[in-house]
Amino acid sequence: MGVMRLGYVHVRVSDMGAAQHHYQEVLGLQRTDQRDGKVFFKGWDEWDHHSVVLEEGGAGLVKMAFKVEREEDLEELETRMAKFGVQLTRRHRNEEHAIGDAIEATLPSGHQVLLYHEAEVLGTSTGLLNPDPWPDGLLGIGVPRIDHLLVTAEDPHLFTRFFTEVLDFKISEKVVPELGSDQVLASWMFRSNTPHDIAVIPGPDAKLHHFAFYLEDWSSLLKAADVMSKTRTPIDVGPTRHGITRGETIYFFDPSGNRNEVFAGGYITYPDFPCITWTADQLGTGVFYHNRELNEAFTSVVS
Ligand code: CA
Ligand code: FE
Repeated sequence: MGVMRLGYVHVRVSDMGAAQHHYQEVLGLQRTDQRDGKVFFKGWDEWDHHSVVLEEGGAGLVKMAFKVEREEDLEELETRMAKFGVQLTRRHRNEEHAIGDAIEATLPSGHQVLLYHEAEVLGTSTGLLNPDPWPDGLLGIGVPRIDHLLVTAEDPHLFTRFFTEVLDFKISEKVVPELGSDQVLASWMFRSNTPHDIAVIPGPDAKLHHFAFYLEDWSSLLKAADVMSKTRTPIDVGPTRHGITRGETIYFFDPSGNRNEVFAGGYITYPDFPCITWTADQLGTGVFYHNRELNEAFTSVVS
């Protein structure tokens, strides 16, 4: 019970035309709908109505939305969130387009988190009966689905407490100031079976560091980098490997300055997955395993 997975990320963009080109033709998402100034997208292997929502008005995160397993989970988690002291708003069916009843929380970090149980189902491109492994006609990178997001918070310890104590996320990896400290400087947390559905690093409140799409393997990642060069999409870092999550990665930017990532590999997690600890002095290696250091822009540029 409880949260199953990241459902969608809703972000602001400064130029809807340029943004649509990026998400549709470079990333290869499918545009599923348009309504009230918002444009909705999903990956070819996703079945719900959307996993990305774009809205004009600058850059940055409007909200992150997680799908819960049972209708009753909403009420239970609402009680737990209220106890934790977060501000809550009920969203009625279709107040969030194509989404059922939902609860929206404003976290102490200023991030908006929506929990919902039901979404309109559109189905995957290959279907559920005797499917081919991938569909024809994919554009650009052709990402199958969203994977995770990483945000910044002035108090990442408190942010981590909310997700673990209230929403029952597990921490796959964390960064502590020094060995033996239980202060969380950064954490990677999961409810699904991947290394993370959400992560937090220190930085300004209410900001987005990046959101990421899944790719199958290293060779898909190489091809994604080719697409980025071909389309003059600015690459931030990569292709390289993370120490944390062991994922293979490329960071790049959408035309509004929101950072995206394509993420391949990484281990799988279980409810009894033991938490891996990094000391802050090794954070560079944790993030970029080959370079073993962070570049200034990577930690300072958020949207
Ligand atoms: Ca994930
Ligand atoms: Fe990431």
